[in-house]
Amino acid sequence: MVPHEFAHLLINRIVGYPGVQEIPVWLHEGLATYLAGQQNRGDQAVRDGARRGTLPTLQQLDESWAQQAQIGYAMSYSIVNYLSEKYGPERMLSLLKALADGTKFDAALQQVMGIDSPALEQEWREWLLGG
Ligand SMILES: [Zn+2]
Repeated sequence: MVPHEFAHLLINRIVGYPGVQEIPVWLHEGLATYLAGQQNRGDQAVRDGARRGTLPTLQQLDESWAQQAQIGYAMSYSIVNYLSEKYGPERMLSLLKALADGTKFDAALQQVMGIDSPALEQEWREWLLGG
């Protein structure tokens, strides 16, 4: 485990420039929170939101993180946790590497994990509510 801010630095170092412009806020924060081993205290709020259909989409999170940071951190942690469980750490690194190579995020997600953002959100919600 590494401190949260150090995790951000590591992620920036891995994706480099211009990769840092492509990595979504939710992925950056989710990875930092995950790598820092910060417990997901918002897990219940995320489940409740998913059940009620009130969670912001990943795109909404990305566009207005500051307005919904609290649920954003909890959601981001949960999605990174899901990605790591389903696709494994190697592919998480491959995703970052694709961004480092200059691939746009949606294309990188498709290339490495074979899904697009809407499919990821749907898979994640099903996992969240089913598990
Ligand atoms: Zn952070």
